[in-house]
Amino acid sequence: MDYESTIYALSSATGKAGVSVLRVSGSEALSSLQKISNRSNFQPRKAHLVTLKNPHTQQPMDEALVLYFPAPHSFTGEECVEYHVHGGLAIVEELLAVLQQQAHHRLAQAGEFTRRAFENNKLDLTEAEAIADLIDAETSLQRDQAFAQYQGSLFDLYKAWVDEIAHILALMEADLDFSDQDLPEDILLKVKPDICDLVTSMEQHLEQSHFAERLRAGFEMVIMGVPNAGKSTLLNALAWREAAIVSPLAGTTRDMIEVDLNLKGYPLKIIDTAGIRSLESAIEAQNSIEKIGMERAAARAKDADIQILLLDSTHDLMQQFLILNETQFLDPKKAILLINKCDKIDTKSLKINDLLESMGINRVAQISAMERIGFDDFLQQIFDLLEQQKPTSRKPALTRLRHRHAVEKALSCLVRANQALLPELAAEDLRLSLRAIGSITGKVDVEDILDKIFRDFCIGK
Ligand code: GDP
Repeated sequence: MDYESTIYALSSATGKAGVSVLRVSGSEALSSLQKISNRSNFQPRKAHLVTLKNPHTQQPMDEALVLYFPAPHSFTGEECVEYHVHGGLAIVEELLAVLQQQAHHRLAQAGEFTRRAFENNKLDLTEAEAIADLIDAETSLQRDQAFAQYQGSLFDLYKAWVDEIAHILALMEADLDFSDQDLPEDILLKVKPDICDLVTSMEQHLEQSHFAERLRAGFEMVIMGVPNAGKSTLLNALAWREAAIVSPLAGTTRDMIEVDLNLKGYPLKIIDTAGIRSLESAIEAQNSIEKIGMERAAARAKDADIQILLLDSTHDLMQQFLILNETQFLDPKKAILLINKCDKIDTKSLKINDLLESMGINRVAQISAMERIGFDDFLQQIFDLLEQQKPTSRKPALTRLRHRHAVEKALSCLVRANQALLPELAAEDLRLSLRAIGSITGKVDVEDILDKIFRDFCIGK
């Protein structure tokens, strides 16, 4: 990657807007500003109102607010300039073209501003990822989580682990180098309790992070029900639009349809599945597409955070439950029994408590998907289930698979170090563990993962 050029990009969204912001970073940022504004003197971090002119034609382009951030006190750590112009397409286009003509200037690549900030030690990798998450956050809880990570919650935790492993390693290295001198005799015994503490912390961290990973990516709620129970109608009612085809013909929804919902800050992916008929009848009908659909639905439901068992109150409830249960996806801890079409019957006749007991489920709601009745209670049940899954500890949690893989690797190395019979072998495992944790923050051996992380950014960030 070339760090010599001065880079520029539109940092606000493309399209018409009241104001658009263009960012310039690099050693020539101030000199191009001076040329475009015909002004030499800019106070650091102060807004200046200037008329921007095309340096070739001297035609005014716009009146803009500009800010100059001298290195190293800028987002990237380099000389930086921000142009706040009127957000018209012609203005933005011309300013970009004028910047392109300036010496050593080029358009920034995706994520390049943040990458430069990382290279100049303004951020670590978890904080850089948090910027992407902050921009992508669609619910308040996602934003809160990304903001905590941006402020360094994960970095602080991993830095503490790196320091601790490095400390143990230093003790062991000293022991290996000076084993004839007067260091404690059995260094392995001495460091074991510290390694065990780290192992426990990492195990807890992995266990408690599932919730945070889901919060970032979206919780999954799968709707399971026999054909015609009203799954598609429910999905459409939740989405307030026709996302799934509703039809009185059994077996219309062959594959899965997803809809995103923001439930009081929780991002929720609602998944409508193929109807579950008795497996036997599907096989008898030799309907292999339908069978595959049912198997996929059951597999998805198994992994989901919430399982909705949608039953049609106008038919035998226990029979429907037994058909669903054939696919063996049910986990009562995350299941909600949802009784539909309550507009059609007197629900008092249903003996719900007996049903729940025999199904081993303890959450139930009654709705009419078609008439949108009972939704407040149903949504509250979902919210309560999500709250229940929230870890009680407020410790920082990892949010990406990249973090999880690195912590798992570090953990397995520590476990091995703890079982090693020779200090040399333990030291090697500690070194590997250190590198694995270091790769999360970017402090150790990170070149190979940089491209992957910054590729997800878009231009201007
Ligand atoms: P799916 O196969 O489970 O997706 O079921 P659909 O959503 O396609 O619904 C099957 C039939 O039941 C359609 O004719 C719907 O209009 C009807 N239906 C769905 N929900 C309700 C409800 O709450 N009350 C009544 N009376 N009919 C419903």
